[in-house]
Amino acid sequence: MTTNETIEPWLREILRCPRCKGVLADATGPTGPELQCGSCHLGYPIEDGVPVLLVDLARPTSD
Ligand SMILES: [Zn+2]
Repeated sequence: MTTNETIEPWLREILRCPRCKGVLADATGPTGPELQCGSCHLGYPIEDGVPVLLVDLARPTSD
């Protein structure tokens, strides 16, 4: 088995951005894997394989 820090596909399918309910996509941020919202451009960290879908902890991904 290889180390996979991304979340399960079935779980990702049902996850939505808590701010705008947009679709989240796997991405890699400056601190590791994260889920990025394509609508409001927030990146949510994934800690130990668990996505932290809190707007307060998200970072803006747009420049
Ligand atoms: Zn969003």
